[in-house]
Order: sequence, then C-alpha cells, then structure tokens
Amino acid sequence: MEDKKIPYKIYLEEGEMPKQWYNVRADMKNKPEPLLNPGTLQPMTAEELGHVFCDELVKQELDDTTAYIDIPEEIQSFYKMYRPSPLVRAYCLEQKLDTPAKIYYKFEGNNTSGSHKLNSAIAQAYYAKKQGLKGVTTETGAGQWGTALSMACSYFDLDCKVYMVKVSYEQKPFRREVMRTYGASVTPSPSETTAVGRKILQEHPGTTGSLGCAISEAVEAATSTEGYRYVLGSVLNQVLLHQSIIGLETKIALDKYGIKPDIIIGCAGGGSNLGGLVSPFMGEKLRGEADYRIIAVEPASCPSLTRGKFAYDFCDTGKVCPLAKMYTLGSGFIPSPNHAGGLRYHGMSSILSKLYDDGLMEACSVEQTAVFEAAEQFARVEGILPAPESSHAIRVAIDEAMKCKQTGEEKTIVFGLTGTGYFDMVAYEKFHNGEMNDYIPTDEDLKPGFDSLPKVDK
Ligand SMILES: *Cc1c(COP(=O)(O)O)cnc(C)c1O
Repeated sequence: MEDKKIPYKIYLEEGEMPKQWYNVRADMKNKPEPLLNPGTLQPMTAEELGHVFCDELVKQELDDTTAYIDIPEEIQSFYKMYRPSPLVRAYCLEQKLDTPAKIYYKFEGNNTSGSHKLNSAIAQAYYAKKQGLKGVTTETGAGQWGTALSMACSYFDLDCKVYMVKVSYEQKPFRREVMRTYGASVTPSPSETTAVGRKILQEHPGTTGSLGCAISEAVEAATSTEGYRYVLGSVLNQVLLHQSIIGLETKIALDKYGIKPDIIIGCAGGGSNLGGLVSPFMGEKLRGEADYRIIAVEPASCPSLTRGKFAYDFCDTGKVCPLAKMYTLGSGFIPSPNHAGGLRYHGMSSILSKLYDDGLMEACSVEQTAVFEAAEQFARVEGILPAPESSHAIRVAIDEAMKCKQTGEEKTIVFGLTGTGYFDMVAYEKFHNGEMNDYIPTDEDLKPGFDSLPKVDK
C-alpha cells in the first residue's frame, strides 16, 4: 500500500469500536498457573477470592476458556468519552531518526488520569456498583491508577480509598489533589491505619513504602470494612482482559490500512498495558495464524522478567494476598530510591510470565538515563511529553528503528505509549540536572528478595 495514504492518526469510527474484550488465556495451550491460597497452597476458589474481589471480577479472573467477553453497555459508553485512542504514525520521529522503519504508537494518555489505567478502572468500578457495594480500596504507586480509579468511582458514585506509596505521596502532591478532586480519600503508605501498616513501620522505620506494602494495607482495609472490596490496577488476569481494548483497537486500525507489524513493544511494570496491547496479536501467534516479535521492556533497576525467577510468590509485601506463579524478584524486593521511572513492581502478570517462559515473547531491560534521553528526543519531535514508564518502550522502539537504519530493513514497529508525564517533572528535573544515575542491582542485592520466596513445590 502507498505509504502516503496512511494518516498521521488512525482513529476508529464509533461503530468500529470493539464490543467485547479478548481473553488471550483461551488460546493458550499452557495456561497460566492458578493463584494459590497461601495457607493451604491449594488453588484459590471463587468463594475465597470473593472475600477480596467483586464476584463478576472473580469470574473473569478464573476464566481460562472464554475467548470473548461482552463489554457492558455502560462501560462502552464511558469508553466513548475518551476512546478510541489514536494510533499515531510517528512520521516526525522516523524522519528525525532517518530510518526506513515505520513506527506507530498507540497513545493512551488522552484522558485526565493520563494513562491506560482508566480502561480497567471503569470496568472494576462498574462491577462493584452492580454488586451493590459501598466502595473499593486500592493502592497506587506513581498515582496513575489511583487517579483512574477515583475518576471511575466518582462516575458510578462509589467510595474510593487509596493507599499511596509514601514516597510518591510526598513527591507528587498534585496527583493526590486530582484524586481528592474526584472524591477519593488518600492515605500515605505504610500508615498507622492498618495492622499490616503498623507492622511494616515497626520493622522498617522511616521506610518510604512500596507497592507491595500499599497492596497489603488496601486489602486489609477492604476485608475489614463492610461493603468494600479491593481492586488492583495491574498484574491480574482480569486487568489484562480489560486492557485488551488497547490491542483490539490497534489491530482494527492496522487492518483498515493492511498494515502488519513486525515488532510490538511495550513497557512492563505488572504487565497490563503490554498484555492488553499484544493480546490479539499473541492470539494469532498462538493459533498459528501470524508471527510477531513481541518485546517487554523493563527498568534495569527492577528487572523481574530478565533477572527474576519463575516461581510462586506473594503479590504483596505483607504476605496477605494469594500466591501467583510469575517472574519475580521476591515480594521483599524494594527498588532503589534512585529509581525514578515507575515500573517498580516486584513481579509480573502470570499470563505474560507464562508466555515469556514458553518463548512466545522477549524481554529486555534499559537504564533510566537512556530512557529519559529517549523521552526527551520523542517529546521534541512528536510533541507529546511521555510518562517515564512509557519511555521504556520508546527507548527500545528507537533502538530497533536504528537497527533498521543500519540494515536498510523497512520493519513496521508498533509500541504502546501508555501515558503522559506531566506529574513526573521531578524525575525529568533530575535528568536535566545530571543528577540521575543508573543504579543496577547486583546479584548480591537481589539475593534477599529471592531468599524471601515462599517454598512451594509447584
Ligand atoms: C501503571 C503504568 C504503567 C505500567 O503498568 P503496567 O501494568 O505494566 O502496564 C506504564 N505506563 C503508565 C503510564 C502507567 O501509568
């Protein structure tokens, strides 16, 4: 197809929007391992999960076989406020790099929360409301998930209690105020408001917190308050399911112009945006219909896929959550405070972990100064100021495009631009002032995390 016919932005018409999510597990021959009860080490039952999560979400979490799941009308309507998100042909970046590669990015930052997280937040709030619950609790690290959930809860008139990792709470007061604007209550974690928070504070006085701690607190708050459930913004199967909207829209847009990607790249924290972006493509790969190179990009300072172990582990520091089999650095792992770029979670989605272990996708890690260099280069030519998390994918997309320049190959590269970085200016400031360093944990540094892995024979 003539290149010129491809617009800068490919949008979908309202009628072309996906009406179902896609569940990649249905096409996986080797299913991801089930969540285990940490006491009995038996697979978690729907009833057990129902104490923590909403019933419909438990169903989605455990469903390994239904390929397509209807998106309820109310969620479709909400999606229409900010979706479809554009698939952008990065003509300006290609020109600047002088590469024969064709680069596309799916931009998820066009909503107030500034990231893809709203796609799952609205679904989770919807099911909580439908169940007649009073409210939900959650954790947030950098703040995007808490913001997305606050927006979703205010839309459905639900209470929203957010435990925010203390270091972010202090560094990002504006994020906190956005959440409060949408009616959420925000508590810095670890806090004195929960038993697990008090315990963590006693063992690690002065800790600036971690996602794992905040999860423990949010779960405790949900399970000890009548009419509340806990919701999580990444890692879980249900979240990847909701995020499949990203990949489905991308695929429809590409198919409209007969474009077939060679390489699909996404940043990986807990794996939700990457899982969502690649799901429909991975489905084709699993069914033997097409082949793609799929690359997960993670920070060198929190390298769960590239240096972690594929093992059953706790999803949280307080060890109150079920065990998930995943690539993990150990629930005791806390990334260096020098690390500014998000993607700090110790583990990785069970679905992506399984696909990676089966050799169906690749992973690489990048250092944060290289990430911010790519972020700045991208901002200057494409206009969008990217989130540091998203910039991990930009880094590798640029690297792959530069390889094409050397070989002359006209590869088509698609990457996920998960969000904007307006609330990350402290990190950008460090980069500009030359105060950012590339701390990479040694094997010695990683050892305590691995030693904290539970002994599970599965
Ligand atoms: C949360 C977040 C991520 C990482 O989370 P995943 O679950 O791995 O997608 C990436 N980018 C942005 C902008 C985020 O807010």
